[in-house]
Amino acid sequence: MTDLSTSVRYVKGIGEKKAQALGKLGVFSLYDLLSYFPARYEDRTKFCPIAAAPEGEGVCIRALVADTPRLVRVRRGMELVKFRAVDESGSVDITYFNQNYVKDYLSRGDSVCFYGKVERNGQRRSMVNPAYEKDDKPRGVTGCILPVYRVNAALNQRTLRDAVRQGLDACGGLLPENLPEEVRVRNGLAQARYAYESVHFPPDFDALAIARRRLVFEELFILACALGALRAERTRESGLRLEKRDFSAFYAALPFTPTAAQKRAIDEAAADMTGGFVMNRLVQGDVGSGKTLVAAALCWLCRENGCVSAFMAPTEILCEQHTETLTKLLSPFGMRVGKLTGSMSAKEKREAKAAIRAGEFDLVVGTHALFSEDVEYARLGLIITDEQHRFGVRQRSALIGKGERPHVLVMSATPIPRTLALMIYGDLDVSVIDELPPGRQKVDTFAVDESYRARLHGFIRKLAGEGRQTFVVCPKVEDGEEGESDLKSAEEHAKELAGEFPELKVACVHGRMKPKDKDAVMAAFVRGETDILVATTVIEVGVDVPNAALMIVENAERFGLSQLHQLRGRVGRGRFKSWCILVSDNRSEDVQARLSIMAKTNDGFRISEEDLRLRGPGDFFGSRQHGLPEMHVADLGADTQVLKTAQEEAKALLAADPQLELPEHAALKARITELFRNNTDSFN
Ligand code: ADP
Ligand code: MG
Repeated sequence: MTDLSTSVRYVKGIGEKKAQALGKLGVFSLYDLLSYFPARYEDRTKFCPIAAAPEGEGVCIRALVADTPRLVRVRRGMELVKFRAVDESGSVDITYFNQNYVKDYLSRGDSVCFYGKVERNGQRRSMVNPAYEKDDKPRGVTGCILPVYRVNAALNQRTLRDAVRQGLDACGGLLPENLPEEVRVRNGLAQARYAYESVHFPPDFDALAIARRRLVFEELFILACALGALRAERTRESGLRLEKRDFSAFYAALPFTPTAAQKRAIDEAAADMTGGFVMNRLVQGDVGSGKTLVAAALCWLCRENGCVSAFMAPTEILCEQHTETLTKLLSPFGMRVGKLTGSMSAKEKREAKAAIRAGEFDLVVGTHALFSEDVEYARLGLIITDEQHRFGVRQRSALIGKGERPHVLVMSATPIPRTLALMIYGDLDVSVIDELPPGRQKVDTFAVDESYRARLHGFIRKLAGEGRQTFVVCPKVEDGEEGESDLKSAEEHAKELAGEFPELKVACVHGRMKPKDKDAVMAAFVRGETDILVATTVIEVGVDVPNAALMIVENAERFGLSQLHQLRGRVGRGRFKSWCILVSDNRSEDVQARLSIMAKTNDGFRISEEDLRLRGPGDFFGSRQHGLPEMHVADLGADTQVLKTAQEEAKALLAADPQLELPEHAALKARITELFRNNTDSFN
């Protein structure tokens, strides 16, 4: 008996070779085959009288073969079949290359449908290699929406189409309904069988849209259920239960009033930490939204409970800055802040570790060194990581091993649309700081081309005269890299600028320098000893130089929107009016559109949405960086509305049936289990 688990090998027309080729596409069973959706469609629904056929556009014409198809030899090894076809409006010359069998298949007087492009030359119209089918022997290649699949060399469209047709005929009725009936009906979604049938062989575009909507929903719903189940499992882990505290005591000692968004994030995290379960929370906030304060408040809560916090940052310079800021914020409460980084001398490290072991610090700030094996914490209650995209999810879990299930707070300035964040950071709860502290000045942004160079130099000089500093970001480190001679290199450009501004101090920093040298250059800039810092994107993350008022990005076309936004976030952090100048000679519409978004808005979330829309999630996060399973139908960038609904439904479903034990959820549960099996790497 044939069912969905039957191998594709048993489909008529699929031999061993083709089965192997399908295997390379991930298609083994009939279920796989039916789930192998078309990559695109060819619209062959439009019929036209010959005389009215628009030029160069695929159309169907219904015509009579007007003369006997004849073989024409053009040169050795090259033969054509030629004939004329007519309808009441006119005639068209039809030519087939290397398809001699057409000569015998079609005869004068046959009524045939052709699909192809009609070309015109004076009064003559012609078609080359159109698809064809006789009216009395339809083959489903004209007058339809034709699915086009991703294939490889050993397969062609016809093979795949025929195989899918057979698969649907044999087991279309056996397709499981993964969506709970209630969810399906409430959201006006088509049934499984209809959806699969119509996504492969849509009778019209409405049907295709209906089918696609159901399949997108299903895909996102299953993923949301899978992630939700995982999250539920994590949050069921009991954790250190802290006593509640009134944060107004903490807020009262701050130099400013926290924003409502900061308070909300603090309350959400505090609720986790005092709830008896382990916190796994992501705080997302645009650059400058004040995430450090959120971290400080929670460290205070910990200390009120007699626990130590650890704060991990990706670079030495950030550790330096965080130590300073957090000391300022926390010392009024008598809290002691320590530091442990890789660049400390052996003796300093030894002393720091001894102090950590003895519980002399309430908060330790550091790099990865914080979690090397020989560091023992007195009573670790909270781990905070800043700019986590530099730390893998794996490292995060390694560090959880450090205490008895300490709470974890992850802070990120990479704004991701909220719905998507729930997917990407699957097992984390998310708090969003969607408000900047009051009085923040907008960084004025301009996109310019090379012709502005002289004026740009004038601007640097003017700002330097006022005591301000400038960042210049280049897309590569040195000349001669990757043969891309038109790109500015940081080293060359720094030399040029040093020549241009003999009166100013120019420094250069990039990722190929030793961490120690890099930090020294950065630190000098932070102290205001350098006027212009030429850099690669190493300065992207978190450094705070309030005196820097100008960010220049060279070859701006080379950077993604989110990256440009991060770079721009390096300025406008102090009381000085700041600017961001994006230099690009690339006039392509695409690039200009992107750069103009930067000029228009300073809102990181809007920018990330645009970025996602323009580049798609793959590029947005780097290849598979986000660790999500590959989407077959859903487009995370475009299907956000469906994504939202699917998430809400998944949440409601899991609330009602957390383990998916009800019989009506069996199909769904099976699908989720399979997803986990196929993606053991993804959900870690
Ligand atoms: P980020 O979210 O980028 O890490 P920071 O925590 O570094 O932001 O904060 C950016 C700046 O804003 C810091 O100088 C900080 O002192 C200041 N700041 C934070 N919260 C507030 C607030 N509620 N009111 C005024 N200034 C604030
Ligand atoms: Mg920060």
